[in-house]
Amino acid sequence: AKDQGRNTYRFFEAEMTARAMQRLHLETALRGALARNELELLYQPQFELKSGRIFGAEALLRWTHPELGKVSPADFIPIAEEIGLISEIGGWVLEQACLQLNAWERQGFSVKRMAVNVSVQQVERLDLVDEINAILQRTGVAPGRLELEVTESLLMRNVERVVANLNALRELGVTLAIDDFGSGFSSLGYLKRLPISRLKIDKTFIDGVTVDDNDDAIARAIIALGRALGLDVIAEGVETQAQADFLEHEGCHEVQGYLFGRPMPAHALRQLAANGR
Ligand code: C2E
Ligand code: CA
Ligand code: CA
Ligand code: CA
Repeated sequence: AKDQGRNTYRFFEAEMTARAMQRLHLETALRGALARNELELLYQPQFELKSGRIFGAEALLRWTHPELGKVSPADFIPIAEEIGLISEIGGWVLEQACLQLNAWERQGFSVKRMAVNVSVQQVERLDLVDEINAILQRTGVAPGRLELEVTESLLMRNVERVVANLNALRELGVTLAIDDFGSGFSSLGYLKRLPISRLKIDKTFIDGVTVDDNDDAIARAIIALGRALGLDVIAEGVETQAQADFLEHEGCHEVQGYLFGRPMPAHALRQLAANGR
């Protein structure tokens, strides 16, 4: 039994070493990803139910490594955040997204708004506002067409800095959406302090609407909260017609999800807009 214990321990040790190695490998690979052109953006349509039109797109980052293959952003974004790489990558994402708006425009396709995910580390940076301003100047994109998606985890950090930066961005005309709304642990007080335009109902609630009464109630409550505070509300992760019907009936007219389109290359989104879904 004693031997077995030791073997088990050795097994775990080997397992941990393998994991640490893999993680280190991923880190090293990620540090060079931008320079090696391994990152790209996909765009998921944001759909308006009333008009049946695409009014926006969310930029979603993809990384394809020559040996590791496709690595999910859910895996590499946290690493990029930890090793201090997210601001560099995030700056690239912001610029690419704005350039894409221009490219579409040249092709006669106008998307009103581009939503870009930004990490807390980016929002905390002193120079965030200058950086975004510079990108908007360089690309000529009107600030009102750029929406930043942030999560509630923002509030667990340097709140003063975060509030100052977000207010400055709001002054520029950039809008702000709270991503994964309802899934965080923060109190709702921040809704008064931050210059928010939009709430994005977390996918976990949308998954359950029309099958779980609790999720119906939560989604309804978020829609009512948005209405009361004068905020727009968008639902993410809409996969079924029943979910879309529920949302429309409850007064949430902006939706995003596989039912309307997966994250796709820029040209595919333009085609989708031209052909209808
Ligand atoms: P998120 O911002 O909450 O993005 C929504 C995720 O749900 C995306 O996963 C999207 O592909 C997926 N999704 C959209 N509609 C549906 C649906 O109907 N059903 C299902 N099952 N999934 C759906 P993705 O692209 O893997 O991104 C994962 C997360 O990685 C994002 O979550 C976001 O937090 C982060 N991320 C992606 N791109 C960036 C980026 O450029 N910067 C930062 N900081 N984070 C990013
Ligand atoms: Ca998002
Ligand atoms: Ca989300
Ligand atoms: Ca999410």
